[in-house]
Amino acid sequence: MKIELLYGRRELFPATQAVPAGVQSLEPMRISGKGVTCLRCGSRFVAARVALPNHHYYCPACINLGRVSTLARFYHVPEPNQFPPCPGVLRWQGELSPLQGEAAAVVKEKMAAHAHHLLWAVTGAGKTEMTYPAIAAALERGERVVIASPRIDVCRELYPRFKRDFALPIALLHGGSEPYAYRQLTICTTHQLLRFYHAFDLLVVDEVDAFPYAMNPALLYATKQAVKEDGGLLLMTATPDQRLLSQVRRGRLSISYLPLRYHGHLLPEIRSLVVGDWRKRVARGQLPPALCRWLRARVESGREFLFFVPHVADLAGVARATRRVVGTTPFTTVHASDEARAVKVERMRRYGYQFLITTTILERGVTFPGIDLLVLGADDPVFSPAALVQIAGRVGRSAARPDGEVAFFLAAPARNVKAACAQIKAVNRRGRRLQ
Ligand SMILES: [Zn+2]
Repeated sequence: MKIELLYGRRELFPATQAVPAGVQSLEPMRISGKGVTCLRCGSRFVAARVALPNHHYYCPACINLGRVSTLARFYHVPEPNQFPPCPGVLRWQGELSPLQGEAAAVVKEKMAAHAHHLLWAVTGAGKTEMTYPAIAAALERGERVVIASPRIDVCRELYPRFKRDFALPIALLHGGSEPYAYRQLTICTTHQLLRFYHAFDLLVVDEVDAFPYAMNPALLYATKQAVKEDGGLLLMTATPDQRLLSQVRRGRLSISYLPLRYHGHLLPEIRSLVVGDWRKRVARGQLPPALCRWLRARVESGREFLFFVPHVADLAGVARATRRVVGTTPFTTVHASDEARAVKVERMRRYGYQFLITTTILERGVTFPGIDLLVLGADDPVFSPAALVQIAGRVGRSAARPDGEVAFFLAAPARNVKAACAQIKAVNRRGRRLQ
């Protein structure tokens, strides 16, 4: 195998094989008393639960990256940063707004100092472009850089943008991607970080608290494994959770804010309304009267909107009841594993539908300019406060129409809705000071 494929990586090999010259052979698991710890993903087990024959053990937690067991060794070569110089690597010709420019300058300075930093930027602030100066400077210093996201669709969306905006080869890694290649700049899922070991001088995590991980110990472990011991860490989010904010309070993370969208406007605030047991009404083919009024107003104005419901099982009933309210207005339902999803989204974009009833936030890159939005059953536990903030952030994305209405209809008052409203209000308070 090519030795460069081991730079900053940990690859599994049978423990019986002779170790090639210049390669380190590292322990894959630690056994202590009755416990076994996987040194790739950090999971701990009672030894008896993960036993193989002859007093060997394996890790079931990260098995889809290849089975870590005491029958194997990790081959590793410390990261040598063997990259050709790349002056002028940033091809991007766009311009940052004054506020974006300020935030970008802070990020660049923090990353030059290899700090651990949180960038809290609202949905639609233009986060990606704000990282460009910091990333370009790191690459020009000869550093190895990775951009990771818990969401595969974010990785797939970032890859072509970075390929267009940076003049160097980039690796894209996720479950179904091309084989690994040694590159100065990598874009990958946070899961893939577990294959790296002290590889990166700069690690950027986009949508740090996004589904499916949230800021959890596994992600922290993966991050710590992948970044060099003195490396810089940039976490980016539109909706920081309490764990992240408490790290800020304890001084483990520095923080900067971008509370305004790229067009300089505030986030749309949520109007929430308690409508009682709407599922009971839907079962009778009806919608709550307040919701009927909201829908009729949209039909009259012709304004497009997204209509969220909590579960796929809600779609058919809600669609039937909605049809009785909106008459012949064109709409359809769509959910995450809907085979016709891409076609339906495309038709919505071309104004073939006035609205979609959906359970899913749709791809991040998909924006409908000038829409309104409603969530029926926003109090359902399936919606985290972060998810509700993300959903609300679909509105007002275009400079031509930065306003838009976000209405939540709930069966009963709920903590998740309260938290989402409070977070948007807090961000907007900061934003107003900058307007
Ligand atoms: Zn493991």
